[in-house]
Amino acid sequence: MTTLVIATRNRHKVAEIRAVLGETFRYQTLADLLPGAPTTVEDAATFAGNAAKKAAELARWLGARRSDGEPARVLADDSGLEVDALNGAPGVFSARFAALDSGRAGNSTDAENNAKLLRLLLGVPPERRTARFRCAIAVAPVNAPRPTSSSPVCLLDETELETQVFEGACEGRILFAPRGQNGFGYDPLFQPEGHDQTFAELGETVKNSLSHRARALAKLKTWLVDQF
Ligand code: IMP
Repeated sequence: MTTLVIATRNRHKVAEIRAVLGETFRYQTLADLLPGAPTTVEDAATFAGNAAKKAAELARWLGARRSDGEPARVLADDSGLEVDALNGAPGVFSARFAALDSGRAGNSTDAENNAKLLRLLLGVPPERRTARFRCAIAVAPVNAPRPTSSSPVCLLDETELETQVFEGACEGRILFAPRGQNGFGYDPLFQPEGHDQTFAELGETVKNSLSHRARALAKLKTWLVDQF
């Protein structure tokens, strides 16, 4: 049985990933690993770049420590919200959107991020409040350490070369006030296309059938089925 190490401590994400991929895998999360797992600096310009960086860093770290030889892959995601009236913001800064103003390190609370989003969209009419959630999921193999490439032209190592990225998006719009109690992040403000309720009102089952993460995971699942 292949182990999928999910590079997150976010229990919502873990639940969503397991619900889509099913129980054909053994799952671990960052919380199950040895202490000292690397914390990736998410400084790429794209969700795909951040997801790939996170997956490859953790896979290399695990590869240097695992000795059981069981097949394992690291799964890392990066996701966020793009609002058209804000030229795609908050984008890769979705988790720390409010903190950007104060220069404070670390993520902001969901309430702070949602308040900033509403403030920036004050006076923007419904038809211009279009937005989408995007998700990139990267899968990197956990390999035993190998000698590094001596190629003068290739700066990527084996793990990075073997990392695959799958992307999904969910279109919708930003409401004028939060609605609903489920979910996390910007869910209470985001109404997906074709629905009258927000992600936070629709609940987990409906969200998992149409979310950006579900769409990226569906692509990953198709690929994983071909691998085994
Ligand atoms: P990350 O992918 O963990 O870096 O999170 C990015 C940020 O985007 C989160 O902190 C949330 O604010 C937001 N986000 C990503 N996916 C969702 C979602 O499914 N619902 C609501 N907010 C989300």
